[in-house]
Amino acid sequence: MKPIQKILIANRGEIAVRVIRTAKKMGIKTVAVFSDPDAHSLFVQSADEAFSLGGTDARSSYLDVEKVVKACLTTGADAVHPGYGFLSENTDFASQLEKHGIRFIGPKPHSIEAMGDKIGSRLLVAKSGVPVVPGYEGASQEISVFKKEAEKIGYPIMAKASAGGGGKGMRRINSPEELEAGILSAKREALSAFGDDRILLEKYITNPRHVEFQIFGDTKGNIIHLHERDCSLQRRHQKVVEETPAPRYPSDLKTKMSEAAVMAAKSVQYEGAGTVEFILGESGEFYFLEMNTRLQVEHPVTEMTTGLDLVEWQIRVCQGEALPQLQTPTQKGHAMEVRIYAEDPKEGFLPSIGRIHHLSFPTRDYLRIDSGVVSGSEITMFYDPMIAKMIVWGEDRITAIRRLVECLSETIVFGPKTNLQFLQKLVSAKEFAEGKVSTHFIADNEVELLSDNTKEELKLALSGTFFTSKELTSPWSKETT
Ligand code: ADP
Ligand code: ADP
Ligand code: MG
Repeated sequence: MKPIQKILIANRGEIAVRVIRTAKKMGIKTVAVFSDPDAHSLFVQSADEAFSLGGTDARSSYLDVEKVVKACLTTGADAVHPGYGFLSENTDFASQLEKHGIRFIGPKPHSIEAMGDKIGSRLLVAKSGVPVVPGYEGASQEISVFKKEAEKIGYPIMAKASAGGGGKGMRRINSPEELEAGILSAKREALSAFGDDRILLEKYITNPRHVEFQIFGDTKGNIIHLHERDCSLQRRHQKVVEETPAPRYPSDLKTKMSEAAVMAAKSVQYEGAGTVEFILGESGEFYFLEMNTRLQVEHPVTEMTTGLDLVEWQIRVCQGEALPQLQTPTQKGHAMEVRIYAEDPKEGFLPSIGRIHHLSFPTRDYLRIDSGVVSGSEITMFYDPMIAKMIVWGEDRITAIRRLVECLSETIVFGPKTNLQFLQKLVSAKEFAEGKVSTHFIADNEVELLSDNTKEELKLALSGTFFTSKELTSPWSKETT
């Protein structure tokens, strides 16, 4: 297959900057596409060429398949990197590119389609022997049927939009009395967010952790995993902190989960980068949640501990090259990522839009900042208000946490409100240091996490005193690498 000459990045912000960096390294030309509010963005300046899509909101720009395909044809791009979100899991987009002979840097349309739907993907992977959460994914959407099935599953249950993503269209239902209202409200949200209101039911797993596996496949049928990521710190089912290796994670469990992840990917003949997400119960039972058929927001922690460039692997696989190795690479040390947002934690995490007058991060050899904005950039109401992803590496988990607390404290943002202090409190929590948090941790500790740091607390966190209690030495030795 001919090597790729010119990649159009069908995305914006930090992930567009990230993809451009690797393309440049590989000597491949890049095209940015942009909406009106993004005309002066960093990613537009970083690319070799830029093409205006017009439009302001996502629907009239980055989500408009016709416009993006036209941009490819006009600029002569021979490949498209979709990043995450937007058109990255859109089968119609991938198929249209295929028709025009433009390569889509991602899996084949049939794999995207099979994993794009929670009802379909549960049925599919279960057939290959991957454990799925006990639940109901039948055709009938009658309330009476949901009621019967919920009784069988046992309360509490989780009602989920089959087309869901980004934590939308999900409701916890505690009793039969709550069922009808819960389902109808999940349906309403699903219809407006995804244009599809089909719902499935799952047993609600209490105090779970979110553990996912990075998967890579090539066009020769090879599929391997590149270790796990623990993304248990979440707010409204959205990840806030991600790390690898997962803390307190016995190696036999890791072996079982990684095998299930590879099996799930094989069930759709997966090519390229993908992530198989699992929910892990308190007694070590684990179940498939979904497969994201794209590069994940949190991919840098995998890169920091393996030394690999996952975007380079994506591009090489897309060019028909075999995976450079058929064994899972060894992981070195520990990496942790936080998502820094322009938002006001004290106002329900409402996006805080406006100009960033000043933005600066510390520089360290163990620190990586992936960002799409600089001093002077504008955070608009049209897109996700992420400022940056901060990723740190340490020889061990506790070193990574200490470094993260320190780097967060040296980050300066003037202009919009941010979640910096919230993140700092979060990663300096004793429970987090002990590796004991579940997906409920943020909700359960909101008051404490939203209170202002006292000078004393800050000093303690920075000096690492929060992390030196006796319990901290033994359980971590269970970490696998
Ligand atoms: P991840 O596990 O990679 O965070 P999510 O499914 O939560 O995966 O979402 C991926 C990213 O896509 C999020 O960071 C979010 O900003 C973006 N995203 C989610 N929904 C949309 C959407 N409707 N339009 C554009 N971007 C979206
Ligand atoms: P999305 O497509 O929105 O990412 P997921 O199915 O991956 O949806 O779930 C997102 C998050 O919601 C999970 O990481 C977990 O925290 C929570 N969640 C999902 N399913 C369940 C469940 N059955 N029980 C408890 N929590 C769940
Ligand atoms: Mg998910």
